[in-house]
Amino acid sequence: MRCCAGGVGVCEALVNRQMTIEGKCWRCGSVMESVEHVLMYCLFARVAWLGFVFSFVIPPTDFLTFHQWIDKLATNVYPSKAIQRKAVSFVAFMCWYLWKARNDFYFDNVNSSPSNVIRCADRAWHDYFNAIESNAS
Ligand SMILES: [Zn+2]
Repeated sequence: MRCCAGGVGVCEALVNRQMTIEGKCWRCGSVMESVEHVLMYCLFARVAWLGFVFSFVIPPTDFLTFHQWIDKLATNVYPSKAIQRKAVSFVAFMCWYLWKARNDFYFDNVNSSPSNVIRCADRAWHDYFNAIESNAS
């Protein structure tokens, strides 16, 4: 995943590449926009994660990197491999729709809601698993 490798064009990455931009999150304006901020710690993301069907909670303080969080999610949270696989795949869909909402806000001035993010992620995730299960039978 590009997020773990620092390959996503968040403001922090652009500032590190000497671009002259302010670098703060455009949505909340509180901190430098990092991958972790967009996908985990921004209030918009935190509210979206509240609707997460597996009740996984984003850490209360921003001490985990995205990579550490994904590792923790993949290894420590769920005892069943099947549930773990579903949870991790749902996280991937959530991250995609959080990123898409960020880009829609930045580039098209479309202000989505956290509930819309989770609704889109949930729909895509169900479509994904329905396709896998129909191919398996
Ligand atoms: Zn923010």
